[in-house]
Amino acid sequence: MNNDLAYYGGNPIREEFLPYGRQAIDDDDIKAVVEVLKGDYLTTGPFVKKFEDAIKEYTGAQYAVAVSNGTAALHAACFAAGIKEGDEVITTPLTFAASANCVLYCGGTPVFADIDSETMLIDLSDIERKITDKTKAIIVVDYTGCVCDYDKIIDLAKKHNLVIIEDAAHSLGSRYKEKYVGSFADITTFSFHPVKHITTGEGGMITTNNPVFYERLKLFRTHGITRDRELLKEGIHQSYYYEQLELGFNYRITDIQCALGLSQLDKIDKFVEKRKELVAEYNRLLKGNEYIILPIEKEYSHSSWHLFVIRLKNDKIRCDRDEFFKYMLSENIGVNVHYIPVYHHPYYKSLGYNTGLCPVCEEIFQEIITLPLFPSMNCDDVNNVVEALNKVIKYFISK
Ligand SMILES: *Cc1c(COP(=O)(O)O)cnc(C)c1O
Repeated sequence: MNNDLAYYGGNPIREEFLPYGRQAIDDDDIKAVVEVLKGDYLTTGPFVKKFEDAIKEYTGAQYAVAVSNGTAALHAACFAAGIKEGDEVITTPLTFAASANCVLYCGGTPVFADIDSETMLIDLSDIERKITDKTKAIIVVDYTGCVCDYDKIIDLAKKHNLVIIEDAAHSLGSRYKEKYVGSFADITTFSFHPVKHITTGEGGMITTNNPVFYERLKLFRTHGITRDRELLKEGIHQSYYYEQLELGFNYRITDIQCALGLSQLDKIDKFVEKRKELVAEYNRLLKGNEYIILPIEKEYSHSSWHLFVIRLKNDKIRCDRDEFFKYMLSENIGVNVHYIPVYHHPYYKSLGYNTGLCPVCEEIFQEIITLPLFPSMNCDDVNNVVEALNKVIKYFISK
């Protein structure tokens, strides 16, 4: 009985592999893209602004700047915040490397604050402990879609004169109390990678309510170049004239991508609703399971659920996560792990970051496993995942 795991030759729970995430593209999306391909502008055309305007309307932000991907959005955010050599920026280790790399791009130093053992979000008291007179900003990540207690983060930032950058790659459509993500941090960044809530293939967006940040973000997207007469330093010239004022990048996004983004954004409410239903089904089926810990969301957070991350009670199951992971994959369930703590990567080690920096994160990293979640899944799929989970748990506890 113990060896009916697919890994050891038994029948897998599913015939067909279920990925952990995937895009949902329909005929309207395809049509929107084809229309742009037939038109005059493939890039720097009208769809960029249309997409920016739609994101402003959806999030409630005053300004939006569309860029080539979520990492470019974070880089631009750090540039706008004025991060430079000698500056420290506090962020969480339980995130994709881009949340910290963006600080390094600007010559700054990422400082990792530990996570809260319940919510797995950055721990406010550890932020406070890690603030020095070099600290310039905090990059808060809405891990899995759940949001931190931003009122408290805003208080803290005010007290120490810090810029709040919200990495909202997971949280388009999430709310903090009544406010939509994108409307309350100093700068918020989004990603439209195919596993995120809406996709443009590759793509990103930055929102802000600050006009100074907005100008700097726009400059940064196009090499630091401007044609804006009010910004020119050398006077007004002929119409060909432009000036490079800063060292920016080519972080533009195409009209093809923005048309797709616009069409996808039309369906965001449906996507979020579906993700919430699937999460409710997971919670219903897994409630009371003594071998795992389900995600915990605080009352101020209304998650749009990018990821469904559970924690294995390793002691109770007598397993290690990597073994558990291997068995789940063999059952054709596309589990994943979000994330390897950023400073565990060899590159960060080479910069001098050591194991032991954030003990809570390191411990939780051994327990986390991401279960499949995307809008075209259905409740049968959720059932399969839970069946596989119970099958693997049973194998371990009866071993
Ligand atoms: C996806 C993601 C990014 C980067 O976005 P890209 O569009 O892939 O560059 C940054 N931070 C987090 C937390 C992410 O999940």
